[in-house]
Amino acid sequence: MTATALRIFGSPRRYVQGPGALDQLGIEARPYGASPVLVGDAHVMNLLGGKLRRLCEESGLKPLCLVLEGEITRAAIAGLEDQLGGHDVSLVIGVGGGKSLDAAKALAVRLGKPVFTVPTIASNDSPTSAAIAMYDENHVMIAVDRMASNPDLVLVDTALIAQAPVTFLLAGIGDAISKKFEADGCLAGTGVTPFGTRPLLTAIAIADCCYRTIRRHGAAAVTDCKRNEVTPELEAVVEAAVLMSGLGFENGGLSLAHSLTRGIVKTRDAMNAIHGYQIAWALLVQWAAEERSDDYILDLMAFYREIGLPASLPELGMDDPTESEIGQMAEWTMVAPHLANLDRPVDPAMLAAAIWRVEMLAGRETA
Ligand SMILES: [Zn+2]
Repeated sequence: MTATALRIFGSPRRYVQGPGALDQLGIEARPYGASPVLVGDAHVMNLLGGKLRRLCEESGLKPLCLVLEGEITRAAIAGLEDQLGGHDVSLVIGVGGGKSLDAAKALAVRLGKPVFTVPTIASNDSPTSAAIAMYDENHVMIAVDRMASNPDLVLVDTALIAQAPVTFLLAGIGDAISKKFEADGCLAGTGVTPFGTRPLLTAIAIADCCYRTIRRHGAAAVTDCKRNEVTPELEAVVEAAVLMSGLGFENGGLSLAHSLTRGIVKTRDAMNAIHGYQIAWALLVQWAAEERSDDYILDLMAFYREIGLPASLPELGMDDPTESEIGQMAEWTMVAPHLANLDRPVDPAMLAAAIWRVEMLAGRETA
């Protein structure tokens, strides 16, 4: 067997989701040893630190709490390790948003220990994934590091997710909705997954279910989240945004939609939009580049506008984009390694034309 014939499936060892799931923390952590370390930002630690500590202590554990200050940089992770002062650690537990979870993953890698992720918002697939987004002091992403394996446990308390601002759930929907089309693109092209192997059919099925779940229950889930209510629809969409989205991309690969972030994060105003909003818009561009029909694209735009995701650059925060700005965004995108993961070759001119087509259709949809 040659290396290219390998298929790899990676996933968290265990996934627990539901209202009150946080109460399982001590029980899940106990088999790993008596001294877990909790990592979160000051906001999350003020809100939940006491409860987390109590949950661990009730299971006979002696937890230590570390507070992540500022950006997730290599220096910040070394700082967290210094705070441990040689304290013996059995397990690292990240609590909060993507940065806190990635900080916990990075610390776990340094210590050679397993990691749990406990997301308090559902804004992206970070809890499930083995990836760690590292930044510099200027908040510019410098690398995506990878753990040798995925988190041992992803613990998603939907009562917490329902309390968070709906913007985060919308971002999670935006980051997840593209995964079916990115895995399909990777399979159709010559691309590989983050494991360096060709997509698995299992991932294609998961990503497909992710998309269908969001289209079917997304609008209800957004309404429920605004009312801070945990419902079956919210549960379904959180599972799509956290679990299916992560499994879909790690085992199915990424394509043009995520490639576009290379350009978006350098582009005026659009750069400030939350990742999931950028991806929602970028999926429309991928569809335009794939020459899908106007009706197909307009249908997704109508869904975005129903739930509150951006269907155009102005809705992403970038008013009056010029021809040269769009050409520049297309050029910047060309460095993305996932560009081969499409059923056709991509060049800056076709990409710029796809972006313009989305802007034109978005204008027509509003009119
Ligand atoms: Zn993403």
